[in-house]
Amino acid sequence: MKLLTLNFLTCAIKTCKTSPSSFPLHPQDSELEIVEADINVLFLRNMLPRLMWNELRLIVNELGLPSLPETAPDASSLLETKLQVPEGDTTGLNIEKIEVPSQVAKDLHRVLLETCIREGKLVCGNCGHEYKVMEGVANFLLPGHLV
Ligand SMILES: [Zn+2]
Repeated sequence: MKLLTLNFLTCAIKTCKTSPSSFPLHPQDSELEIVEADINVLFLRNMLPRLMWNELRLIVNELGLPSLPETAPDASSLLETKLQVPEGDTTGLNIEKIEVPSQVAKDLHRVLLETCIREGKLVCGNCGHEYKVMEGVANFLLPGHLV
């Protein structure tokens, strides 16, 4: 499961829904893998306002990954302008400006969409319930007495 998913998950136990400590779920004993994906700056830009930045930073720290910046990046920092000579132009005079994903966007893409938890567990900070992650899928089915 991608780390971005953790931005949208809380404990499934009813009494935890109202507790602020049930979010985010804390990854433990995680085995991470990188699954490369094409970067989509528009998607990142749309996602930015919905990210719980402080909680994401916490998860990233708990996983021992390089820290995220203290504040969420500005949408405008996701693209940068690059000058290039169009393909096939042998004169080299027709320099054009193109917009490419910035390092900020690449870093964000890497951590949110390419870094995946393959095995491990997600632990609720409120009730301590552990949700197992196996082969990249978190199991949110609760035993009967907890539903
Ligand atoms: Zn809980």
